[in-house]
Amino acid sequence: MSRPLSDQERRKQISIRGIVGAESVAELKRGFNRHLHFTLVKDRNVATPRDYYFALAHTVRDHLVGRWIRTQQYYYEKDPKRIYYLSLEFYMGRTLQNTMINLGLQNACDEAVYQLGLDMEELEEIEEDAGLGNGGLGRLAACFLDSMATLGLAAYGYGIRYEYGIFNQKIRDGWQVEEADDWLRHGNPWEKARPEYMLPVHFYGRVEHSPAGAKWVDTQVVLALPYDTPVPGYMNNTVNTMRLWSARAPNDFNLRDFNVGDYIQAVLDRNLAENISRVLYPNDNFFEGKELRLKQEYFVVAATLQDIIRRFKASKFGSTDTVRTVFDSFPDQVAIQLNDTHPAMAIPELMRIFVDIEKLPWDKAWDLTKRTFAYTNHTVLPEALERWPVDLVEKLLPRHLQIIYEINQRHLDHIASLFPNDVDRLRRMSLIEEGGTKRINMAHLCIVGSHAVNGVAKIHSEIVKTQVFEDFAELEPEKFQNKTNGITPRRWLLLCNPGLAELIAEKIGEDYVRDLSQLTKLHEFVDDDLFIREVAKVKQENKVKFALYLEKEYKVKINPSSMFDVHVKRIHEYKRQLMNCLHIITMYNRIRRDPTKLFVPRTVIIGGKAAPGYHMAKMIIKLINAVAQVVNNDPMVGSKLKVIFLENYRVSLAEKVIPATDLSEQISTAGTEASGTGNMKFMLNGALTIGTMDGANVEMAEEAGEENLFIFGMRVEDVTELDRKGYDAQLYYDRLPELKQAVDQIKSGFFSPKEPNLFNDVVNMLFHHDRFKVFADYEAYVKCQEKVSELYLNSKAWTKMVIRNIAAAGKFSSDRTIKEYARDIWHVEPSDLKIPPPNEPRDAAQDKTPNGTAA
Ligand SMILES: *Cc1c(COP(=O)(O)O)cnc(C)c1O
Repeated sequence: MSRPLSDQERRKQISIRGIVGAESVAELKRGFNRHLHFTLVKDRNVATPRDYYFALAHTVRDHLVGRWIRTQQYYYEKDPKRIYYLSLEFYMGRTLQNTMINLGLQNACDEAVYQLGLDMEELEEIEEDAGLGNGGLGRLAACFLDSMATLGLAAYGYGIRYEYGIFNQKIRDGWQVEEADDWLRHGNPWEKARPEYMLPVHFYGRVEHSPAGAKWVDTQVVLALPYDTPVPGYMNNTVNTMRLWSARAPNDFNLRDFNVGDYIQAVLDRNLAENISRVLYPNDNFFEGKELRLKQEYFVVAATLQDIIRRFKASKFGSTDTVRTVFDSFPDQVAIQLNDTHPAMAIPELMRIFVDIEKLPWDKAWDLTKRTFAYTNHTVLPEALERWPVDLVEKLLPRHLQIIYEINQRHLDHIASLFPNDVDRLRRMSLIEEGGTKRINMAHLCIVGSHAVNGVAKIHSEIVKTQVFEDFAELEPEKFQNKTNGITPRRWLLLCNPGLAELIAEKIGEDYVRDLSQLTKLHEFVDDDLFIREVAKVKQENKVKFALYLEKEYKVKINPSSMFDVHVKRIHEYKRQLMNCLHIITMYNRIRRDPTKLFVPRTVIIGGKAAPGYHMAKMIIKLINAVAQVVNNDPMVGSKLKVIFLENYRVSLAEKVIPATDLSEQISTAGTEASGTGNMKFMLNGALTIGTMDGANVEMAEEAGEENLFIFGMRVEDVTELDRKGYDAQLYYDRLPELKQAVDQIKSGFFSPKEPNLFNDVVNMLFHHDRFKVFADYEAYVKCQEKVSELYLNSKAWTKMVIRNIAAAGKFSSDRTIKEYARDIWHVEPSDLKIPPPNEPRDAAQDKTPNGTAA
């Protein structure tokens, strides 16, 4: 029997985190001890905390296995339409707690671990983040997997199993230093290698044409080894698969032909092939045209399409008409969503399979291909759009280049027939950009090869349709859609903020976790004094907890009663961390000018990684740290203002800082941030937003009412108008004395006395080539920040605004987003059918002998 529960533990019993039965606790403890013994081969005298983490992870994993097998068996038998989400990034973060929550095991595991005399939070901290992403795009893919499983869609995530994920960021003397992310060093208990499904991927070679068709020959082969990770839905017994490919050299690599004789060298050279899945490219919103990156993109595409077609052929729809597979139903059975243009080579690859291998006529193949693919655009920044040099593609994928040329020829013939004598239109719409290095415009390829193209927030989709791809939208307006991004409320509320999740459940019940629109019921409690106090209390507890974490990990002390003003996201000029920095300097100068004047205490927390090759972003990090150094050590400032650069911002750190935030900074130049998803996480966790009318901020304001956000600055139209007139930073500098003072301080070395010219590049940029117009929004930003401080003085009014924001956050569940993709693009129905749970690990699935092709 278990000991009696404490009050705190009893409170958790009403919880959405699962019901604790003495039975299940005892079973979990048995599982834990069994794994410690048989899997870790340790006893408790010699076990380390890491051993305990692995024993727990394996125990929880055991509860996934039966559900996983049954779900896949169910898909095999019922053959629903499959949804394939292709992405070069899956920014998953940690898996243990998320699995416990989605399986309803959290409370039972908490109790079991407690009874074993261990500390759950300490064990959870041992898990490495799966950092296979850069930022928003990769995290979106992870949230979508959670929602697709929760909605019962037969969905698969396909990507690359990078051996090294996003680098670990260290701050040394204020500078960013990168360290390799060796996340697999201790083993990964959540993945299962599937060598039996290994597939070949071809590169280089040449094309032979004959009456029988084209043949790609003399290629170099790399093997793609799949690793499967289970993706559990929330409390529905569905477990989908994320399949990540790892590159392996064939065993005869370099031994067959030219390298015969140097056996040792040939074995060493296996690395060349296996480098394909070595490391994630650390660029966020930036195109780097490297051969290895193109290899990665084709590698995931080629392996995935073979897998998809193998699965289709194994289904009853892949019926064979004597010898040939009939592909007519392929688009009804298969939807492939392209997460940005990164997997765009899937379009010519599917054409190659249909035409060269399956011998379908071009027109038939093209019709099937277009009906299969849909493309999500994630940015309109020109430096982020992929434009691969034709020469490189010709060398690496010669047959694909020919296919792209053929697609382009037919596409341009079509345009020319509709718009005779419009040569400029043909130039603008071509898949091939001429002049200088010839390049393939991958977005154009995706638009032409898909039946749906979507942006990721209303304002962004509008810009996609009316500005960036205007010609294409004129041609096929019905192709262009919006699918506003979302976040999963499981990780971004239940997991990271249990106090708030519980409090909400006490007021409106637990169903909101699956249907976040029910948060509107909280409007009823906006004037409920007790509820207001409880919401404020949860926030205060989260702030204290985060302050303790910073003190323990980084030896910095912050004041938990100050306003936590948080700006965490990748460091990028368009996200305007520099404007935040100018505001900090402005506050600093105001305190020094009049130290007796009331000042609402603030802790400004800025965090994010700079791409290692992005000089300006690295200078911004150095500047923030230099400003922090001065501000934090000025006795005149004392505890009124503190500046913290949060090292190594990543998913597991986001889970800590976001619930502790009072003020969320979302201050990109209007028209540059496609959606943002960080903004949504903060809103759901009870922070107020200071932001521009950009990305999903616009819809957050629409949902909550503009009066419940701190909206400031230029709208998209204002930015366009300013561009037309010509932006002159000097004008603002001359007119605004506080801006002048702050900029002069940076310029004169006030923050870098040993190196007065350190920030010359930054200042020079701000004056002469600031594409994101920091000075133009500075005044409105500072004035808006004054309003923020004023409201913060009135704790009750602040918290009421927080409640109105939480109540309005329902739209931003990724469940809502995925339902829209399902309805408008994939044409599938969410299923609330619960696959029956397995009683025992040994069950029906093992009793019969399937033909072995289901997975
Ligand atoms: C959500 C998230 C992002 C995206 O944040 P934005 O503010 O939308 O750019 C980036 N990194 C991590 C770790 C995240 O969790």
